[in-house]
Amino acid sequence: MKKIGFTTSFPIEPFLAAGFQVTDLNNVFISGRSNELVQSAEFQGYPRNICAWIKGMYALIKESDYDYILGVIQGDCSNTHSLLSTLEDSGQKILYFSFPYDRDRGALNNEIAKLEKFCGVSRDETQKMKQELDRVRAKLVKLDNLTWQTCQVSGEENHSWLVAASDFNGDHILLEDQLDNFFISIEDRPHNKNGLRLGYLGVPPIISDLYEFLESRNAHVVFNEIQRQFAMPYLENDIIEQYWKYTYPYSVKERLTDILEQIKIRKLQGLISYTQSFCHRQIDNLLIRKYAGIPVLTLEGDNPGVLDERTKLRLESFIDMLTL
Ligand code: SF4
Repeated sequence: MKKIGFTTSFPIEPFLAAGFQVTDLNNVFISGRSNELVQSAEFQGYPRNICAWIKGMYALIKESDYDYILGVIQGDCSNTHSLLSTLEDSGQKILYFSFPYDRDRGALNNEIAKLEKFCGVSRDETQKMKQELDRVRAKLVKLDNLTWQTCQVSGEENHSWLVAASDFNGDHILLEDQLDNFFISIEDRPHNKNGLRLGYLGVPPIISDLYEFLESRNAHVVFNEIQRQFAMPYLENDIIEQYWKYTYPYSVKERLTDILEQIKIRKLQGLISYTQSFCHRQIDNLLIRKYAGIPVLTLEGDNPGVLDERTKLRLESFIDMLTL
């Protein structure tokens, strides 16, 4: 089985239909020896002032044996271009995918067709795989609903399950079984609608104890914006529509439409807008703050690790401000 690692969520359906094993490199990086990987990339010459996710992926790929690395070269991160160049230079085989920034459906269709051609699968086969994955995605929508409607699922659990949707942890059938068991295990949990209702915006945090800290202050994250996008919650019939509605790779305007809608539906009282050090998405945060209409705390993370004391203080002040 050929192994492919990818730099951010993209249409994995053609690869799964063709029998590839697909892995989201971010998930491997963050759940393993993340600090060691960042240091290893710096030791190999990657600059200190480059995003830790990029450095972590570089070191991870260098020590792994992926047959291909697929880089999303439009709709994610310009650092990916240089990441791919350095990898290609060391002999790694690279594939490319672009989300058209203007959301042109024809261009998106061409990009997906290019993947199908490489994989040797038809659109029907891609669609069939999409339907199979949508069965799991529908369960993730249920899990998300149990987060904001009854609060039986914590913000951290919500985060973990939804990020898993980017590559289905390499086995969507196993993931579906695990989800079914999880639902059974939480059946008797009480409905807890007390406490502060927060939304978490931005890429998944590099900080490991953020959710735990918030929960300990009776502040519940009932909306994980990008993680929910990774789980493709709209369940459209057509693969093009699915990746057209996915907000992450396009402009902040699409993200804001989704965020504003969810603020209302989920009755959010405040937002934590997470940004990564040295990431261009910090600029998007200006518009998020301008249009959110509810209090926003901007949090910046750099290297993998736990919350520092200053950030804890800022979070506590934000919670106090919202609860007083
Ligand atoms: S957090 Fe920002 S800079 Fe880092 S990989 Fe993602 S998009 Fe690129």
